[in-house]
Amino acid sequence: MLFAVTDPDAGSRGISAFVVEAGDEGLGFGAPERKMGLRGSPTCEVTLDDVRVPADRLLGKEGQGLRIALGTLDRTRAVVAGQAVGIAQGALDAAVTYTKERRQFGQPVAQFQGVQFMLADMETGVRASRLLAYAAAEAAEAGVPDLSLAGAAAKCFASDTAMRVTTDAVQLLGGAGYTRDLPVERMMRDAKITQIYEGTNQIQRVVIARALTR
Ligand SMILES: Cc1cc2nc3c(=O)[nH]c(=O)nc-3n(C[C@H](O)[C@H](O)[C@H](O)COP(=O)(O)OP(=O)(O)OC[C@H]3O[C@@H](n4cnc5c(N)ncnc54)[C@H](O)[C@@H]3O)c2cc1C
Repeated sequence: MLFAVTDPDAGSRGISAFVVEAGDEGLGFGAPERKMGLRGSPTCEVTLDDVRVPADRLLGKEGQGLRIALGTLDRTRAVVAGQAVGIAQGALDAAVTYTKERRQFGQPVAQFQGVQFMLADMETGVRASRLLAYAAAEAAEAGVPDLSLAGAAAKCFASDTAMRVTTDAVQLLGGAGYTRDLPVERMMRDAKITQIYEGTNQIQRVVIARALTR
């Protein structure tokens, strides 16, 4: 799905959306980016060199591209919230399992209150994120007026939570958590992208604040 300026004088109404297919002449892909995380999903630059597509590949009407992009983001932010919940839940599960098994000073480290309070905050954050993600998915299906707000709030909260929970999971696994032998360092790297793509969390806060103050 490609957004292109079709009328440079029309500002935000001069952008149109097109379907461009992988085999289209002139479409190219750069080398895979060398990323911090999300390595299970390749990311490349897309290049366009005189690509021509038939008129029926225009999505909606000419000039509606920005509207289509923003409407899409309202829905896909619930998906990123879901991704963040999954990563955070994985890290929490690993932290609970490890701290119940790892013994220091004669007892499992999960028995120390300092560890328990961290686990409790992680669990609370994951639960709240899951509910916000479900609420955003429900809003997307129903097409309610505050869909943008629901998607932005869920994505922002769940991704910030995923970053905190995965960082805490690395902490709770001690030195082992910092190695690639255990999965939590990968989860911490993967969580970071959920704060950035589909609009950074600063932009989510702009969307939320605009909905409240317009
Ligand atoms: C792995 C990966 C996959 C991606 N996949 C896709 C994809 O499939 N399709 C696609 O279209 N894009 C994709 N992106 C792009 C991604 O959506 C953008 O990188 C992201 O939205 C941030 O935009 P930017 O990089 O231009 O940051 P910038 O806009 O340059 O932002 C830089 C900094 O300034 C802050 N900032 C910018 N504007 C404001 C503001 N108004 N108020 C406060 N702070 C602000 C940002 O929050 C950020 O901290 C992908 C990126 C990555 C890393």
